Amino acid sequence: MDINEKNLIIDRTYTCPICDKQFHSKTVKSNSAKFVDTMADLRPIHSNINVTKYDAICCPNCGFAALAKNFNNTTSIQRKLIREKIQSNYKSHEESECDTYTTEMAISRMKMVLLCTVTKGGKDSEIGNVCLKICWLYQDLADEIPDDDPNAQAKRETYLKEADNAGMNAYERLTKARMNEGFPIAGMNETTLDYLLAYFAYKKGEYQTAMQLLSGVVSSRSVTPRLKDKSLELKELIKPKLHEENS
Ligand SMILES: [Zn+2]
Repeated sequence: MDINEKNLIIDRTYTCPICDKQFHSKTVKSNSAKFVDTMADLRPIHSNINVTKYDAICCPNCGFAALAKNFNNTTSIQRKLIREKIQSNYKSHEESECDTYTTEMAISRMKMVLLCTVTKGGKDSEIGNVCLKICWLYQDLADEIPDDDPNAQAKRETYLKEADNAGMNAYERLTKARMNEGFPIAGMNETTLDYLLAYFAYKKGEYQTAMQLLSGVVSSRSVTPRLKDKSLELKELIKPKLHEENS
């Protein structure tokens, strides 16, 4: 993947809304990622690049970080909060010279986005979206562990535990967003979000909630065939669990 990855990304110049300095961030060239499928938690799989690694934009001068789509959407109050609570404590550094971002780098960049999004009082949908990406990145990190690594099992357990924690935070935030915000939420329409919430409800052992959400998804007129298939697969996983609970 790495040899090709370099050719699929470009350095984009950003002007920071907090410190007004210019910096570069790597971004995936449009239409270059080859989509394969999404996993049960909607983690996107591309054959040639992991696009989630390039979703965080981080200013090396003041520490401000955001998802690309939210980078220029701060209010004056939010900018003030970031200056007081992030910039004042941040040690500026040179832009790192590298061809691609590793998954570890992507996780620390995404955690900086989370810190800034919480600090500025971002919406639940925005915080939930960042938590979801952290959840996906830890799973990607677990997938990258070489088989011959002597600590493979311990590392895998650690990374997947981090993924689960981030996933549960995403579940909590996106559930609140579902009640209080309008769609799209974290880039998702109603059926997609309800499917995702059902998946996390299943992971948490809230099987009744998961089934209720899935019933809404499969009977929705706007559901795509792909999402309907995923929902039916998830229902099959939940049925025996519900059966166990009731027996
Ligand atoms: Zn800055």
